[in-house]
Amino acid sequence: MNHPLIYLPSVDNTNTWAKEHLDRFGALGAVYSTSQTAGRGRLGRTWVNAAGQALYYSCVVHEDLVQPETLPLLSCLVTAKVLHGLYGIDCRIKWPNDLLLDGKKIVGILCEGVPDKGAWILGIGINLAQPQSYFDAAGLPNGASLLTSGVPVCAERDADVLAAGLTEPGFSAVIPRFAREGIAPFLSDYRTHCVNLGRHVSYDGGEGTALDVDTDGRLVVCDDATGERRIFTGEVSVRGVYGAV
Ligand code: ATP
Repeated sequence: MNHPLIYLPSVDNTNTWAKEHLDRFGALGAVYSTSQTAGRGRLGRTWVNAAGQALYYSCVVHEDLVQPETLPLLSCLVTAKVLHGLYGIDCRIKWPNDLLLDGKKIVGILCEGVPDKGAWILGIGINLAQPQSYFDAAGLPNGASLLTSGVPVCAERDADVLAAGLTEPGFSAVIPRFAREGIAPFLSDYRTHCVNLGRHVSYDGGEGTALDVDTDGRLVVCDDATGERRIFTGEVSVRGVYGAV
């Protein structure tokens, strides 16, 4: 099946653009660019632009989902698999929404809902061709790109190839099952990619060892002080991950 895939030479934000043009995407489609001037992260943070050197991609899903809050987890898994299939690289997932390569962040993911339209937007930023000097100058010591990881890259071509692969087979292959069953069928795969498990984490209100990701997509932590906790929202930082894998 053909899914709409729209390229924009430059955009303020692919998630915002997608929200404003929902009728262009049908049940599943995507928009992408290599320049995004107003990238967003979680909790009001910024996803830094590198014009012509990165992929900024949003997949639009216009479908009822039984467990939309686990979309960031599914998006990480799909992106890790597409990157592996195209480049042979093994990204690890930093729960809930980042991909790391060699301990540094190569992908950031921000999923948003459009409740009144019954749509979901899966925003994915992938660093492609930024050299190390870019991350140093941008104050992103934990950032990485395909280039800094030793993958030969042509940003324009790879942005096209990745955007196509993320859309189809990528999301189009898994969204129908995810819509009906949620994250459960994908969890064992997610766990094998998840860098947090077995590591010390700190989070709003405590710290402990991350043990598992449960069927609600929550991180199960054995808190040093209070025993088992299940964390869904909020801030989790994982000690010793960046630069240390
Ligand atoms: P972290 O644990 O790394 O702070 P997070 O999941 O809390 O991640 P996100 O909202 O996913 O944060 O992403 C925003 C953060 O990612 C920024 O605060 C910045 O530290 C980092 N960042 C921003 N742009 C880039 C980029 N292009 N490449 C790598 N890292 C970036």
